[in-house]
Formats: sequence, C-alpha cells, structure tokens
Amino acid sequence: MKRYLIIGSGLIGRLVAWRLIHAGHAVTILSSDDIAGTDSAGYVAASMIAPFTEAVCADKTIRSLGKQSQQLWSQWLAEFAQPVFYPQSGTLVVAHDSDKAELARYQRRAEYILQPADYQQLDRQQLTTLSPALAETFRSALYFPEEGCLDNRQFYQRVGEFLSQYADWQIIEPVMRLSATTLEQLCQQTLGHSVGKFTTVIDCRGNGSTADMEDLRGVRGEVLRVYAPEVDLQQCVRLLHPRHPLYLAPRPDHHYVIGATVIESADRSPVSVRSAMELLSALHSIHRGFAEARVVEMRAHCRPALADHLPTIRQQPWGYQVNGFYRHGYLLGPVMVNELMNQLLSTSASGGRYAS
Ligand SMILES: Cc1cc2nc3c(=O)[nH]c(=O)nc-3n(C[C@H](O)[C@H](O)[C@H](O)COP(=O)(O)OP(=O)(O)OC[C@H]3O[C@@H](n4cnc5c(N)ncnc54)[C@H](O)[C@@H]3O)c2cc1C
Repeated sequence: MKRYLIIGSGLIGRLVAWRLIHAGHAVTILSSDDIAGTDSAGYVAASMIAPFTEAVCADKTIRSLGKQSQQLWSQWLAEFAQPVFYPQSGTLVVAHDSDKAELARYQRRAEYILQPADYQQLDRQQLTTLSPALAETFRSALYFPEEGCLDNRQFYQRVGEFLSQYADWQIIEPVMRLSATTLEQLCQQTLGHSVGKFTTVIDCRGNGSTADMEDLRGVRGEVLRVYAPEVDLQQCVRLLHPRHPLYLAPRPDHHYVIGATVIESADRSPVSVRSAMELLSALHSIHRGFAEARVVEMRAHCRPALADHLPTIRQQPWGYQVNGFYRHGYLLGPVMVNELMNQLLSTSASGGRYAS
C-alpha cells in the first residue's frame, strides 16, 4: 500500500482519490473547498459526457478519449450502492430556421471529424417520435445517440461520502505555491509529519494552480439551473446560434442546467445581466413551456485551460500536476485519471500529455 497526498477536492481531486483508494492505497486530501465541493468548477458544471458533439467543436482526439471515459464512468458509477442519475439518451443538435446555415456548417464539420455511425439526421417525424417537446419548435435535428450527462452534484455527494469514510480529508487555507519547501511546511503544520511520508503529491487545484502553471488560464462560464414542470426533455440539447449558442442538460424531476457562456476571463463574480438575458431568451426559444420555468440558481465559475484546451499530467520534483481540463473535466477526467494511475503505479513514471 502506498500513501498519496492530494491537494484540491474538486472533480479531479475526487476522481484521483476515489480510484487510488479503490486500488488499495491510502489517501490524504488537503483542500480549501468544503466537503460538498461548492467552490469547484465541477460543482457548477453541466457535466455532459459528450465525446461526439464536443469533438465537432474542438479537437478530434476528444472523440476517442471521451469514449474511453464513457466506459469508465459506467463501470465506476456501478460501484456505488445508490445510483447516480446518468441518462445516456443522446444529444439533439438543433437550430432555428433563421440559423439553418449554422446547422449545415455543424453537419459538415461532423462529417469531417466523426464516423457516419456517430450521428443521425432526423426529420420532423423522427424528431417527434424521439422528442415530442422539441418537435413543437424544430423541423429537424442531428442526433448523437451515444451521449449523456450525469448529475454532478449527486456524483459529488456519493464520492464525497466514500472519501469521508476512507480518506483523511482536511480543509485548509488555500495553498498558493507548491514546492518541496511549502509542502514540507504544509504537512508539518496540518498533519504533524513530513511530506516524505507520502509516496508522492498530486496537485488537483484546477484554477488554483495558476501561480505554479504559467500557461494555465481561467475561462469564465455562466450557467443557470431551471425547474420547468411544463417541459419534458430527456436528451441533452444544443441550440446552434451565431452569437448565443446554448446547451441544456437534463436533471431529475424537470430540472435543467442551461449554459454556458465562454468568456476569456478569470472573473468568478456572479452571472451578468447580459449573460442571463441571452441564456434565458435562447432557452425560451427552445420551448414555450420554459416561460413559466423557475430560475433556481445562477452560477459562474472558470474552466482551467491550457493553450490547446487539452488536459495534462506533468511531473514535478515534488509530485504531479493534473490540470487543464477546460470544458472537459467530466468527459476526459476518467481517462486521464487512469493514465495517472498507470504512471503512479509503474516504476519508470514520467509526465504525460495527450497531444492534438
Ligand atoms: C460553466 C461550466 C460548465 C462545464 N460543463 C462541463 C460539461 O458539461 N462537461 C465536462 O466534461 N466538463 C464541464 N466543465 C468543466 C469541468 O467542470 C472542469 O474541467 C473540471 O471541474 C476541472 O476539474 P478540476 O478538479 O481541475 O478543478 P475544480 O473542479 O475547479 O476543482 C479544484 C478544487 O481545488 C480547490 N482549490 C483551488 N485552489 C486551491 C488552493 N489554492 N488550495 C487548496 N485547494 C484549492 C477548489 O476549491 C476545488 O475544490 C464545465 C465547467 C464550467 C465552469
């Protein structure tokens, strides 16, 4: 059994800790966040697991890595005694008639990046069969059947309960810089022993690592959560628009996560009036039943991003940095955590990176 120290308890810190404990190792977590994880990007996220629709707008590597993560999510979530809401009902990509050029452009890119079996073109009749609510507004859609989204807060709760039981988890003041010296001080002050008691340290501070990773930046994202009892959408929906695209990720009992702005800024202040208006008006255009929806939450956070928007595992003299998940923490987290585990548990460990 090895002993690992994890700094940060958002999405990646939780995943790493969970899998290390599952593999029979001892884990200590030090984080400035609370046990619920409310300070983390992973708590705010829509948590869509969308390897195909994300690959269309990003890097084609995402398709194969995301598919591997999908399998890992299914395996790993099955370990919990209580289920985590994870509908895999697919994604419907739609555009209003005035924006049909956007849908045509999206389809051309899908043809270039994806395999023909990854998606289907639906006419109105097929859309009505799959999603009667959406067919009230749209005549056609592109359907990506093998996508889904999980309930991030339910997942945080389940994994939080597991870690509360099996990890030594302490809430600390934010750690601004990591080095052999600061880690030694931190361990002495917080744990009363040397950092040398750990096999290695894994930095999972997300945006909190910017002082140590000069190429890491925050990309602001704003999301709303609404309760819409008059609307019944089972699939994730992506509304294409030249200026204000929108996605919708279903949650249990007619709750939906609506997002998200993509703003080059590390500003984590509350959602702006402009963003709220744009998101809400796009939402209302999807289905008239959203007019009477209740806005239950508005949150902003930042996606920790590197220049190529792909995650990285970097080896440092004191341990590992696992970061740069940008808008793909849920999509690529499991596959990267598996890669980290391989590196940690092999003797010739070295930093790794998925290049585009
Ligand atoms: C609006 C929005 C929507 C998103 N939607 C999706 C989606 O649909 N699908 C998807 O795959 N991904 C999505 N993401 C991305 C995903 O949430 C992130 O990629 C992921 O959360 C990154 O995980 P992380 O653990 O690196 O960072 P975080 O989840 O932010 O966790 C970092 C943790 O470290 C702690 N910490 C920070 N600084 C310090 C410090 N100095 N000392 C100690 N602890 C510290 C924090 O409190 C936090 O608990 C979205 C993100 C946003 C913002």
